[in-house]
Amino acid sequence: MDITLVQGDITEQRVDAVVNAANSSLMGGGGVDGAIHRAGGPEILRECRRLRDTSHPDGLPAGDAVATTAGRMPATWVIHTVGPVYSASEDRSSTLASCYRRSLEVAEELNAAVVAFPAVSAGVYGWPMDSAADIAVRSTLAFSPASSNTLSEVRFVLFSRDAYEAFARALEPNS
Ligand code: ADP
Repeated sequence: MDITLVQGDITEQRVDAVVNAANSSLMGGGGVDGAIHRAGGPEILRECRRLRDTSHPDGLPAGDAVATTAGRMPATWVIHTVGPVYSASEDRSSTLASCYRRSLEVAEELNAAVVAFPAVSAGVYGWPMDSAADIAVRSTLAFSPASSNTLSEVRFVLFSRDAYEAFARALEPNS
C-alpha cells in the first residue's frame, strides 16, 4: 500500500473513495464537508438521511466511519468519519487514529483500491496540523489490511501548502 501526498481539492480526486471530515449529525457542514456535499450533489445527503433513519439514529460517533455514494464527484464513494474536537486538556489522539483505521476498514469492505483523506480534525475542530499529520500517517502505517485486501494507495489531499508540508514531515522518517 503506497502513501502519497497531494496539495489540492479532495473533491476533484479520481479515487475510489474520498473520506469526509463530517460531523456526527451527518447532515453536512462547513470546510471539507461542505465542499464534498456541494461537489457531489444532493444524493449524498439523501443517503446520509437514510443512515440517520436506519442504522445511526443518534448520529455517527467520533472515531467511526460509514460510506455513502459520492454522487457527481469522480470518486465512487464518500466515507464519512467524525474526528474529535481538539482538546488541550484531554488526549483524544486515539479517537483521531480510529478515524483513519475505521475509514480504511470501510474502504476494504467496499473493495476500494485508492482512498483519499483530508486532514481530519485539523480545520474547524482545531487539531494542530503537525500532530494531526503525525497521527494520520502513523495510524495509516499501522493499519493491517485483511488478507483479501484490495487497498493499493492512501492519498492525503491537503488544501494548503502548510498542511502539505506538515504531512511531508510526518512521512519523512518512513520514506
Ligand atoms: P474538521 O471539522 O474535522 O476540523 P474541516 O473541514 O474544518 O474539518 O478541516 C479539515 C481539513 O480539511 C482542513 O485542513 C481544511 O483546510 C481542509 N479542507 C477544506 N476543504 C478542503 C478540500 N476541498 N479539499 C481538501 N481539504 C480541504
